[in-house]
Amino acid sequence: MSEQGLSDRFGRRINYLRVSVTDRCDLRCIYCMAEKMTFLPRESLLSLEEIARICRVFVELGVTKIRFTGGEPLVRRGVLKLFREVGRLPGLGEMVMTTNGTRLDQYAPHLKEAGMRRLNISLDTLRADRFRRISRVGELDRVLAGIEAAREAGFARIKLNSVILAGRNEDEVLSLTRFAVERGLDISFIEEMPLGEIEERDRAESYYSSDAIRADLEREFTLLPSTDSTGGPSRYYTLAGTGTRVGFISPHSHNFCHLCNRVRLTVEGRLLLCLGHEHSVDLRRVVREHPREDEPLRQAIIDSMAIKPERHEFDLGTRPVLRRHMNHTGG
Ligand code: SAM
Ligand code: SF4
Repeated sequence: MSEQGLSDRFGRRINYLRVSVTDRCDLRCIYCMAEKMTFLPRESLLSLEEIARICRVFVELGVTKIRFTGGEPLVRRGVLKLFREVGRLPGLGEMVMTTNGTRLDQYAPHLKEAGMRRLNISLDTLRADRFRRISRVGELDRVLAGIEAAREAGFARIKLNSVILAGRNEDEVLSLTRFAVERGLDISFIEEMPLGEIEERDRAESYYSSDAIRADLEREFTLLPSTDSTGGPSRYYTLAGTGTRVGFISPHSHNFCHLCNRVRLTVEGRLLLCLGHEHSVDLRRVVREHPREDEPLRQAIIDSMAIKPERHEFDLGTRPVLRRHMNHTGG
């Protein structure tokens, strides 16, 4: 175990790793993917063993929280084995996952068994027709069944993630929140981030700010500020008289970079130091050149801290946006 842990040149302690286990997905959400996506060739992907090894070394370096994401993590074959292995790492405080929920009715109890503590489940609408339009291919009922299965499996906490877009689902802020309150779930509202080119609409036109969402909520709920922090972009409130927390993830309207405690591993083994920049280190090369020796991997991770940018610079008004789509980044 590292005595000092990882910290960057701005003094930020890095103790949170997000890992994308696949760029593939059974949905094609309009804010995340283009309609026709080219997925990565199999040989460029980290194997599950390589991912487990990188996670282990991060935990040895003081990382206490790992979130698995994608793409849709549950479409990668054999992923439960990875979760079981990482879930057993001494020193890891929390293993959590972000999922679109379509396969949870099958996976929820196994995830719990593997040591997954909490789940974030994406849900942007409660209307089946809209769900189909936003996800292009999905069925809302599958996700609702997945949410029920997760509740039955008894996770420590379940949080819904809703990306709110003007003209698409901004009129569902209250109904999604009621849905969460009735089921004892938390909910976070996310401003769309400009990751990857999408053709059919202008992102600036569908921008719906966290402040607008908050005003919608205040028509029905009292928001009490919460001191909870994940060291990230969310600001949390408790809804008075309920057990539900509401988070706002506001990359445009509120900057959160000074609190950043995280780095991201793509499924190709690129360690991304910031969601909004291309700064990265190729850990796949390091693990493949040194299959039996961890020291070069440890050193590459420690050295990567020197290039973590101070802040992201998302701007809806200027092009180009980053070329990476969210499914590559691991949102
Ligand atoms: N497939 C899983 C899911 O949908 O939850 C995990 C991966 S997905 C990329 C993770 C989160 O990123 C989801 O909550 C999704 O809504 C969000 N997301 C995707 N593209 C986004 C974008 N351009 N801006 C903001 N959030 C985005
Ligand atoms: Fe798939 Fe999640 Fe992206 Fe939707 S947001 S396309 S579910 S990876």
